[in-house]
Amino acid sequence: MIDGPIRRAVKWVARTLYLNQLRFSRAWRRMRGERPHALGGACEGCAKCCEEPAIQVSAAFNPPRVLARGFVAWQRRVNGFELTRVDEDQGVLYFRCTHFDPSTRRCDSYGSRPGMCRDYPRMQLYQPNPELFAGCGYRAIAPNASGLLKVLEDQPMTEAQREKLKDGLRLR
Ligand code: SF4
Ligand code: SF4
Repeated sequence: MIDGPIRRAVKWVARTLYLNQLRFSRAWRRMRGERPHALGGACEGCAKCCEEPAIQVSAAFNPPRVLARGFVAWQRRVNGFELTRVDEDQGVLYFRCTHFDPSTRRCDSYGSRPGMCRDYPRMQLYQPNPELFAGCGYRAIAPNASGLLKVLEDQPMTEAQREKLKDGLRLR
C-alpha cells in the first residue's frame, strides 16, 4: 500500500534518526582504526535487495519478548515489512516487503523507503568478506586495494593469474 502523508512523516523521522546514528557509529569505528571496504559500482535497479529484506539484530539485542514484538509490529505498521522467518543462530529477521511488487520489481513508496533500503549495501562493507546480492551493481573494494595492486604488479605471474587475484582479493 502506498504510503500516505502521516506514514511518510513518521518514516522521515525514523529514517533521519537511523541514518544519523549510522553516520556517528561509522565515524566512531573509523576513529578506532576500523577500515571498511570501499564501495564501487552503482545501483542498477535489479531489486534483489527488495525480495527479502533482512535485519540483523545484534547478539546484545536480546530484548524481552514484549519489546521484540513491538519491534516486529513497528516494522509491519510503519515500514510495511511482514516477518516471514527468524534465523536465531545468526540473529537475523527476514521480512516480506508489502511495498515491493515482484511482477514489476518496483517499490510503490520509493520516496519514503526506510533508511536500511537507502543504505544497502554499505553495512556489508564492514564485514571481513562482504557478500552482496548476486547481480548487485555495487561491489566491495578492499581497503588497501591500491597498495596491494602495486605489490601485485611486481610479482612474477601470468596476466591471467594477476587478473584472477585482483578479483579474488577485491582489488577493483
Ligand atoms: S541489489 Fe544492488 S543493484 Fe540491485 S537494487 Fe539493490 S542496491 Fe541496486
Ligand atoms: S520499501 Fe521499497 S526499497 Fe525498501 S525493500 Fe520495500 S520495495 Fe524495496
